[in-house]
Amino acid sequence: MNLEKFIANVSDFPKPGIEFKDITPLMANGEAYRYATEQFIEYAKEVGADVIVGPEARGFIFGCPVATELSLGFIPIRKPGKLPREAVEYEYELEYGTNTLCMHRDAIKPGQKVLVIDDLLATGGTVEATINLVKQLGGNVVGCAFLIELEFLNGRDKLQNVDVKSLIKY
Ligand code: AMP
Repeated sequence: MNLEKFIANVSDFPKPGIEFKDITPLMANGEAYRYATEQFIEYAKEVGADVIVGPEARGFIFGCPVATELSLGFIPIRKPGKLPREAVEYEYELEYGTNTLCMHRDAIKPGQKVLVIDDLLATGGTVEATINLVKQLGGNVVGCAFLIELEFLNGRDKLQNVDVKSLIKY
């Protein structure tokens, strides 16, 4: 299935110069949504994941159905102040300023094989921070999967020793 036709390109959102990849038309089409999810499910089996980790909020859209289909757990990565129990944190650089992501300290058991799923790989900062959180808890990242990869931003360069899969490339 050609998934690209279900992505809406929105110019100058959320700020001038950014072309936003809107995945909501894909989610609104049951067959396209299911097809994309199935690709992630196959990949999760291939890498032998035993837990799925996804950054808020769009990492939940694909990460959760993959987890439930395979009877695996799903671990949310959240912005500061959202997780109610003790959490580990990782701060990373943005073009202007910094961002912090958090994960519950007891979310991952040492040695667990983790698949990270998110909607889009841009600069790779989000997934790099996510991998760092997983490693802080002793987890083993066996793969990272994205619906969309913006290849011109070279996010893969930050993921040198990790297997990366993307379903749509720009
Ligand atoms: P990055 O940390 O630069 O790889 O950015 C990845 C995160 O930002 C993803 O979770 C996306 O949801 C969001 N994002 C970045 N660039 C775009 C874009 N052009 N269109 C839609 N979402 C984006």
